Amino acid sequence: MNDCLFCKIIAGDIPSKKVWSDELCYAFYDIAPQAPTHVLIVPKTHIPSAAGINAENSGLVGHIFEVAAKLAVELGLENGWRVVTNVGEDGGQSVKHLHFHLLGGKKLSLEMA
Ligand code: AMP
Repeated sequence: MNDCLFCKIIAGDIPSKKVWSDELCYAFYDIAPQAPTHVLIVPKTHIPSAAGINAENSGLVGHIFEVAAKLAVELGLENGWRVVTNVGEDGGQSVKHLHFHLLGGKKLSLEMA
């Protein structure tokens, strides 16, 4: 996608602090962290949001959760962590490229809405 921020980050056209990269996904530090550790994990293919997950691409999600579990260990989140994905206007999604927030490094609030 030409004007997608995260596609540009994946392509290296916009700088990011890389945490992980493999053939399917890319992970980097969030520019405005909401927790002491705040990483975004994104598929390398452009999927607009979790609403676009289907039988053909859902394997990606399992892979991203595997990466999240690995990164949680590497980043020292042994006390716990959270994965969040926001969808659409009401879900608070600001970047229209599927991404999973990996948050940790403190006791996270239980507030959901
Ligand atoms: P969401 O609001 O769920 O769509 O999340 C988008 C996230 O992208 C926010 O947490 C932003 O802080 C983050 N973000 C926006 N621009 C950048 C950037 N250039 N590098 C890293 N994170 C970014």
